[in-house]
Amino acid sequence: MRFRVLGSGSSGNTTLVEGGGSFILIDAGLGPREMAERLQSLGIDPASIAAIILTHEHNDHSRGAASFSNKWGVRVLGSRGTYAAGGFGAVDIAGWDVLELGQPRAYGGLTVTGVPIPHDAAGPVAFVLSGDGVSMGHATDFGHVNRTLVDAFRPCETVVVESNYDAAMLRDGAYPWSLKERILGRLGHLSNDDVGDYIVRGLGETCRTLVLAHLSRKNNHPELARMSAENALRRRGRTEVRLEIAEPDGMDWIPVTAPPRAAKGPEQLRLF
Ligand SMILES: [Zn+2]
Ligand SMILES: [Zn+2]
Repeated sequence: MRFRVLGSGSSGNTTLVEGGGSFILIDAGLGPREMAERLQSLGIDPASIAAIILTHEHNDHSRGAASFSNKWGVRVLGSRGTYAAGGFGAVDIAGWDVLELGQPRAYGGLTVTGVPIPHDAAGPVAFVLSGDGVSMGHATDFGHVNRTLVDAFRPCETVVVESNYDAAMLRDGAYPWSLKERILGRLGHLSNDDVGDYIVRGLGETCRTLVLAHLSRKNNHPELARMSAENALRRRGRTEVRLEIAEPDGMDWIPVTAPPRAAKGPEQLRLF
């Protein structure tokens, strides 16, 4: 399995995942034409995408979903809340698959499981995608890390998580107080400090790659997010984890790899 962030942040979120011979788009926050062009520039036929899976209805995640689905005949998967709040019943799409929480759904060789997350949207979810014997967790747009998410991501070899804002930059910044309160709230966005806390207390032992996504251009700086996560990885004794920051305009393929298996010693061999 491998994945490629095509866009990250308030200007539009879309990540391409390839595994088990199938392609899936997580979110469709770029324009439909732009998404098609980015896929074609990678040699991928947009019509070959097995599904667009939506985290929630906010524009920076769903803007291009309906038009892309309609033009290229690609089904869309999302929660009932996303369907209703995103108005997908009123537009032409190739088909909608209802996401039932905790129930895996297969698209070719890739399996998708939804995990509920706290955000001010109608039915927001994180995803675990599995294929080729590995899995990745993807969570953007949520206000705090809860036990459900920690447990769902524990077995994942790759974790993509939002590191939206630096608390001091947000507090001292130009946003109106009502918006600051929304972002800071339990249903808002995750800060660099929150991600550090998650690394120290929740990151699974199998995680090999951590990608920080959905960084605010106004309230964060990539180096602040990186330093905060690096410090947390060091405190946790996990400096072997590859750390990447998702670029707003996309980045190169990242492989999802399993940790090397411990060599079987004589003790273990005797068991068989
Ligand atoms: Zn967002
Ligand atoms: Zn959102």
